[in-house]
Amino acid sequence: MERKSSAACYRQFIRIITFIDLAINRKFTLFSLGVLFWLLALAAVAVVTLVRVDATYARILHETIPHELAAQKIAAELATITLETTDLYQSRTSSDVLSHADLLLTRLDEIQKLISTLNGSIEKSAGKGGPVSFLLRKQREQGPYLHELSGVIEQMNRSVRKATADKIEELLPGSQDTVLLTHGEKEMKELLHKAEKISLNYAGELATTCRQSTEEISDTIRHSFLIMFGVLTLALVLLVIFTRWIAVAISGPIQAITGQIHSLSIGDVDLSEKLAITSQDEIGTLAAEFNGLMESVYGMTAFKNVIEEDSHLQDIYVRLGDVFESVAQIQRYCIYEVLDNQQEMVAVYPLGHETSTLHCQGEILADCELCRVCKTGHQISSLVFAGICQQFKGENLAQQHVCVPVNVGGRIGLVVQFLFDPEDGTPLDRTLLQHQVDRATRYLKEAQSVLEAKRLLATLRDSALRDALTGLYNRRFLQEHSQQIVAGCQRRGTSIGLLMCDLDYFKQVNDQYGHETGDLLLVETANALLHAVRESDYVVRFGGEEFLVLLVDVELGEADVVAEKIRHAVAAVGVQTQSGPLSKTISIGVSIFPADGESLWQTIKFADVALYKAKDAGRNQVVHFLPEMWNGDSF
Ligand code: GH3
Ligand code: MG
Ligand code: MG
Repeated sequence: MERKSSAACYRQFIRIITFIDLAINRKFTLFSLGVLFWLLALAAVAVVTLVRVDATYARILHETIPHELAAQKIAAELATITLETTDLYQSRTSSDVLSHADLLLTRLDEIQKLISTLNGSIEKSAGKGGPVSFLLRKQREQGPYLHELSGVIEQMNRSVRKATADKIEELLPGSQDTVLLTHGEKEMKELLHKAEKISLNYAGELATTCRQSTEEISDTIRHSFLIMFGVLTLALVLLVIFTRWIAVAISGPIQAITGQIHSLSIGDVDLSEKLAITSQDEIGTLAAEFNGLMESVYGMTAFKNVIEEDSHLQDIYVRLGDVFESVAQIQRYCIYEVLDNQQEMVAVYPLGHETSTLHCQGEILADCELCRVCKTGHQISSLVFAGICQQFKGENLAQQHVCVPVNVGGRIGLVVQFLFDPEDGTPLDRTLLQHQVDRATRYLKEAQSVLEAKRLLATLRDSALRDALTGLYNRRFLQEHSQQIVAGCQRRGTSIGLLMCDLDYFKQVNDQYGHETGDLLLVETANALLHAVRESDYVVRFGGEEFLVLLVDVELGEADVVAEKIRHAVAAVGVQTQSGPLSKTISIGVSIFPADGESLWQTIKFADVALYKAKDAGRNQVVHFLPEMWNGDSF
């Protein structure tokens, strides 16, 4: 657990330092700032180095070198003083003595001046304050040298004056004081020797100072070079690593997306395969959006493949409903089918829509021109304009609707109504709702061609299974669907009532009034039959003026009651002829499956047998099949 969390922390740390989740412009801004930082670091090292070198060099130039020159001059002056001193003691005239003494004193004065100048520069440097530099330290150390030298020079000065006086006195006639002079010359030479030694030490000290300063410069340059090399190497390594990280983070997903797009364009793509989302920057967003697009395309393609294999339009409506709910997040909707006659509409999904429960006025079902979508051919939305459709009644004033047309075969074949209710008084987000409708509409567009094909097929099948004159099912319908009808009843454990109906003396109608009147009577009889039974029952035109009614899920005795109802209804049918209204009676044979027959077709035969019994018995009556009516072994 701990290891896992430390691994997670490490990953998080890497994500932070690689800027992986930052927006691309921020990535590059930080990257540029990083480069700038390292450039500034290099520049800072260079500046510090140059300043230090410059300061050290300036000290050598303005302080050490003048001291060295002064030391050299002092040494030269001392050499001159040595010679002059010798000359002074060897002088034989007073004027020579005085001139040498004067020269000596001048030299000594100059040395003294140099010392005081040097001392002055040391004091000046010390007076500047700030950190005490190496050279200043050295100069302060040199102070005693100069002081000592100054003392020796002072002594020499006194010694020269004394020697001058002694020498002049010696040159006076009769003077005997040579011992004193010899002692003075010895002292003077000792002082000179001492001064030379101090001066030599002073020069040596200055040379050391100078060497140390140049070493300091060279050290500074070497250290700076090492630091700059280190900084440059580190900066280059970081630059390479970050450039690579950023390049991989950007180019990897882009290459993956490009690859997917290429595969998509050549049709060789696994749409269910998702791109890995490795970052939360624009690239991550692009990958997520691309996955969303793929998912949508995949969902759309899968949806189309599935509905293409569905056999019935109703199955497609169910799938559209699923998509509206799961993909478009629209929970309330109604699909209306505009019938082929372009007049009527039927609410086909969700099933169980009674006219009273529709969200539109019931009149639109009988006259689809009243529906604004059918009339205009485009989307109608109360989100765009409140109260746009007067046929929309809604459940409450806040309920909104968007109705979308779906073209089938060049005309409006479906109208899909989406309904939106505000939740807990929260106003509806129109943009979001329109987005949801757009998603649902994309699926409708995808389904369009399939709906067209299925609808055409259904129309063709329907026309093949229906009688052209009456619109009733034909015998072929019964042949194709009998098994299905029987299976349904068997599953429910119910019975099918079979009514074989035949118009009485119909031939006379044709003979007396012509075929047109006969046809009209047949159509009216068919309508009477349809009205007399439930919607779930089947009315089949079995022959010329013979009709078979299949009453699904009948109770005991119920079939005979319906048969009587039919008999009365047909008798009530009237067709206008030139000699007044014409009506005919009908004879009906009744049998029940499975009570009377083993198979549906056998039971139909038994209903026919009962019909002939009715005809034999005088027509215009209902006869229920009895086993004794049937004496044949097969039918
Ligand atoms: P019954 O009471 O014994 O049934 O007498 P019927 O005259 O009705 O019976 P029949 O079988 O003798 O005559 C049926 C007639 O129905 C014959 C045919 O001309 C007529 N018929 C069949 N199909 C059509 C049709 O589509 N239109 C018209 N007008 N007549 C048809
Ligand atoms: Mg007949
Ligand atoms: Mg007949």
